[in-house]
Amino acid sequence: MSGKAKKEIKTCGANNMGYGLEYTKCNLCGSGSYDILQNPDSFRIVKCKKCGLIYVNPRPDQKYIKEFYSKTSNYAEWHKQKEGREKMWEKRVKELVGVANENNIQKGSILDIGCGIGTFLSMMKDKGWRCSGTEISEIALDSLERGIDVFVGPIENMKPNKRFDIITIWHVLEHLPDPLKTLNKANSLLKDEGMIVVAVPNAEERIFLFLKTTIRMKRQYLFSKDSKEIHLYHFSQSSLRKMMEKAGFTIIKEAVDTPGITFARRFFDDIAGFVFRITGKNIGIALKIYAKKQ
Ligand SMILES: [Zn+2]
Repeated sequence: MSGKAKKEIKTCGANNMGYGLEYTKCNLCGSGSYDILQNPDSFRIVKCKKCGLIYVNPRPDQKYIKEFYSKTSNYAEWHKQKEGREKMWEKRVKELVGVANENNIQKGSILDIGCGIGTFLSMMKDKGWRCSGTEISEIALDSLERGIDVFVGPIENMKPNKRFDIITIWHVLEHLPDPLKTLNKANSLLKDEGMIVVAVPNAEERIFLFLKTTIRMKRQYLFSKDSKEIHLYHFSQSSLRKMMEKAGFTIIKEAVDTPGITFARRFFDDIAGFVFRITGKNIGIALKIYAKKQ
């Protein structure tokens, strides 16, 4: 099955769920041709015929997405999982600092795009880094309380008077309407010798999807109206790599990301990391790419 996108972005009116849907073209290559992968409720997941990017089309309009992220109840869970989340960040920080050292990036300034409640940045601050963050929701107040310099609003509106040694984007890109634009902006904010790390869920991960489908006896979709989070894009190692290269980056390392916050999930992350190192195949639930400017 295939379809053609309507004009670049067109709101096609509110549906019976009370919000509008809008059509969009492929964010990576601009093509309007796609195959339909899944079609639950009103949210179609499509795959670009030209470059393979997987995205939601049509998607909920921006008004709905803004309202969704202003619900602070979505973040209450983060506070409850404090201990597991700190362990998760320690793992990521250890790897990040290691890759920075290997690439001669000295301790300096770091910008975290979509810094949430600021757990990651406060750990980097303790290690002596000068930390800045951006966050679109009011949860940014938590980061401010931790003494971190936070720009409240979309990264595209940020006009800092300096560039950064490291920029991080942890599980944010898949939520954004125009991820390529965000990566281009990140490129302009990075020092010439700086490094970026981007982590996203892994669209090619099939094990958890299979287990969930089996346990719940119901097909699990990548995205439905019941989803806790709105992922507008579903990246594979290959589509994220292509988008980062298009935004002016040279890839220096690809890895399994380790977002596990429970013991079982962390154990699975470790297995996935081991399999990736041996085979180069990512069976993990998330992926991560380190890059420098071209
Ligand atoms: Zn495409």
